[in-house]
Amino acid sequence: MSQPQPSLPSRRVLLVEDSDLFGRLLAGKLKLELGLGTVWLKTFGDCLRLLDSGDTAFDAALLDITLPDAPHGEIIDLVLSHGIPGIVFTGSVNDAQREAFWAKRIVDYILKQSECGLDIAVRQVKRIIDNRDMRCLVVDDSRLYRKSIANLLRAHGFHVHEAASGREALAILAAHRDIKLALVDYTMPEMDGVALTREIRRLGRIDELAVIGLSNSEDKATPIRFLKNGANDYIKKPFEVEEFYCRVSLNIDMLNQFATIRELAYTDPLTATANRRALFSSGQAALAQARETASPITVAMIDIDRFKHVNDTFGHEAGDDVIRHLGATLREYFPQGEHHIGRIGGEEFCVASPGRTAAQLLPVYEAFRRHIAGAVVAARGYGIAYTVSVGLHDAAGASFEDMLKEADVKLYKAKTLGRNRIVVTAAP
Ligand code: GH3
Ligand code: MG
Ligand code: MG
Repeated sequence: MSQPQPSLPSRRVLLVEDSDLFGRLLAGKLKLELGLGTVWLKTFGDCLRLLDSGDTAFDAALLDITLPDAPHGEIIDLVLSHGIPGIVFTGSVNDAQREAFWAKRIVDYILKQSECGLDIAVRQVKRIIDNRDMRCLVVDDSRLYRKSIANLLRAHGFHVHEAASGREALAILAAHRDIKLALVDYTMPEMDGVALTREIRRLGRIDELAVIGLSNSEDKATPIRFLKNGANDYIKKPFEVEEFYCRVSLNIDMLNQFATIRELAYTDPLTATANRRALFSSGQAALAQARETASPITVAMIDIDRFKHVNDTFGHEAGDDVIRHLGATLREYFPQGEHHIGRIGGEEFCVASPGRTAAQLLPVYEAFRRHIAGAVVAARGYGIAYTVSVGLHDAAGASFEDMLKEADVKLYKAKTLGRNRIVVTAAP
C-alpha cells in the first residue's frame, strides 16, 4: 500500500547557477515535475550569506562548479559542509576531476551539455527525497569500512544504521522492520556475511528488503555464495563510488517496482479499496486475531439494489461512478485502521470490523444506508439515486470465507424482503 508522505514543513532545493537560461529551465522542471520550490542564487557569495544566516533546510542542492566568484568548485565544499546532499553540474570532466568529485561525497555529477542533463538532475533530486524516508543497514566489523559505506549512503540522504556483527544486525532488523537495504560484509567473526544473509532471508520480506554482499575476497566462489544464500547483489571491494551508487539505486528501484506491483495486485482500480484477494487475506488475519483474543468480529456484505437498472438507464460509465460513490461512502463510515473494506464483486463490497459486534455496528450501518438512500450521485450529466442492501454476521466461523457466506445469506434475505434494508440475524 502506498506510503503516507511525512508532513515536512517544506520541500525545497537550493540551486546555485549563474546561467539565466539553465537556471530557469531547471527551476521550472523541479516545480512542474516534483512540485518543489527552488531558492536560486547566482554567486558563491550569495550562497555563503544565505547558509551563514542559518537558512540551511534544503533537501538537495544543484551546484554549478564554475561560478563567477568561485571558478574551481569551491561551492561544493561550502554546501556539503552544511549537510545538504549536492548534485554537481560541470562542463566537462576528466578522470582526476571525477575522482575528486566522488572524494567529496557528492550525489552525482551531471554534464551540462548532455541532452538529458536536466532530466537526470530532476531524477536525482527525486531519489534523494525518496531516500529521506528510507532506512539502510551497514554490517561490517571493520569500523573504518563501515563508516565509509555508511557515509556514502548518508550523502544520498539515506537514514543509516550500523552494526558491527551479525547478531547486532539481526537485532537492528528486528527493531526496525522498515529497513529496506542491508549492506553485508563477508569477513566477520562469529557469523560471516553469507551466514547473516541466510538468517536475514529466514525473516521473509524477500521483496521488501534487499541484501548486497561486499567482500575483498579473491575467491570466485564468494559472490556465488552470497547470491545463492539470498543476496540480491554483490560488490567487490575496493569499489568505484560510482558503481556503488549505481548498484544501490538499482536495488532500491527494484524494491519500489515490487511495491508498485504489490499495490496493483491488491487494490481495486475503480474504487481504490482492497480487492477480493487483499480483503480475504486481511479478513482471515483479523479473524485469527479475534479468535486469539476472544474478541468479536463482524462481517458485512453490501450490495447495490437493482444495479442492472442503473447501468441500463444511465450507461455503464455512470454505473461506475455510482460504484465509486459507494466505495467512498464506505470509507467515510468505516475508516481504515478500524475496518477492512474490499470490493469483492461488481457492485458488491465487504467490510470486516474486528472488535465490534453486529449489534454495536447496526446503528452505523443504518446511518450509512440512510445516507446512501438520500444521496444523489452526479454522473455523466445525470443525478442518480440508488439504495443498498446489507447483510451483517458476527458469529466467528471456521474461516473468513464461512463468515462471508453467512453474511451473504443475510444479504439475500434483505433483497427478498424488499431491498434498501439491513438484515442482521437470519429469519427463523
Ligand atoms: P439486486 O438488487 O438483486 O442486487 O439486483 P442487481 O441488478 O443489482 O444485481 P445483479 O447481480 O443481477 O446485477 C449486477 C450488475 O452489475 C450486472 C453487471 O453488469 C453490473 N456490473 C458488474 N460490475 C460492474 C462494473 O464494474 N461497472 C458497472 N457499471 N457495472 C457492473
Ligand atoms: Mg445488486
Ligand atoms: Mg450483486
